[in-house]
Amino acid sequence: NLILAFESSCDETSVAVIENGEKILANVVATQINSHKRFGGVVPEVASRHHIEQITICIDEALQEAHVQTQELSAVAVTYGPGLVGALLVGVSAAKAFAYANDLPLIPVNHMAGHIYAARFVKPIVFPAMALLVSGGHTELVYMPYENEFQIIGETRDDAAGEAYDKIGRVLGISYPAGKTIDELAHQGQDSFHFPRAMVHEDNFDFSFSGLKSAFINTVHHADQIHETLNKADLAASFQQSVIDVIVKKTLWACDQFAIKQLILAGGVAANHGLRDTLATELAAKQPQLDFVKAPLKLCGDNAAMIGAAGYVAMKHHVFADASLNAAPSLEFDWVPDAVK
Ligand code: ATP
Ligand code: MG
Ligand code: FE
Repeated sequence: NLILAFESSCDETSVAVIENGEKILANVVATQINSHKRFGGVVPEVASRHHIEQITICIDEALQEAHVQTQELSAVAVTYGPGLVGALLVGVSAAKAFAYANDLPLIPVNHMAGHIYAARFVKPIVFPAMALLVSGGHTELVYMPYENEFQIIGETRDDAAGEAYDKIGRVLGISYPAGKTIDELAHQGQDSFHFPRAMVHEDNFDFSFSGLKSAFINTVHHADQIHETLNKADLAASFQQSVIDVIVKKTLWACDQFAIKQLILAGGVAANHGLRDTLATELAAKQPQLDFVKAPLKLCGDNAAMIGAAGYVAMKHHVFADASLNAAPSLEFDWVPDAVK
């Protein structure tokens, strides 16, 4: 089985060739970060234009790198949501055209399922599983009883974790996306500010990061007003420790409440070294029977390889789309039983 996978939901144009849902033959990622940096975030119009310029180049490169001929492909998988509508449309249109021209089945993939299935490149997913999904637009705990069922048991009520990183990054003068730089800075500082840990003792699996963001911004602005210079590394370390404390506590609790066999850490913020290490240490100490799998560092951010892995699972469950497939910017996981929501 060879899947040609497409990803274009935000600011990465990516095309991959995946063998049997588990082996990456090619994963070409064209990032647009440099074009968006000066605006401090992703500009939708600019993103769409870049995707259009890059998509066919990515297809050619991926097939070449994989040493795969079009006739050898089994299916085409594509992210159809969630994401920016104009950005998604480029990938969806390209995938539809490619599938139609080459008489291949088309598999619609939820971008967030893709993030989770990035972990598949480390080892097989064991069910029931729990996924901690932390990214630029989402912060969720997802219970997965079976391989194609996703049930959100908790999520952020305001900012996503990655969004909070990017917003406080702006205050520190760190360019978009700020997560990686703040992570590095945090390792040189200490949690001397003790920012709030929102909702950590609440009886649910939800998160909130806007209070932390405000506390951080107020601290920096106040210091500015009295011409005091704060230690940036300590600020970063304090922010990061607050984020990690809350996420790790809630995740461990969720793992304890659900009979699961494996915890998956995925999404752009899963690249955070502090989070990866703390979660591993805490799990080993408190729930040693639970298997823990982290998405590979290089596959935490947006890429088409993860879409190919999720597409392979969807294909096994006969999830196909026809030429009427459209971009779904606010796509959610469709299986949410009444008992939960
Ligand atoms: P979504 O997947 O929710 O639709 P997205 O695709 O824009 O959103 P991702 O590409 O999954 O988001 O992740 C990007 C986010 O990850 C950015 O907010 C970035 O700052 C953050 N990030 C990347 N590396 C790190 C890190 N080491 N520590 C913290 N955050 C990080
Ligand atoms: Mg991105
Ligand atoms: Fe993403």
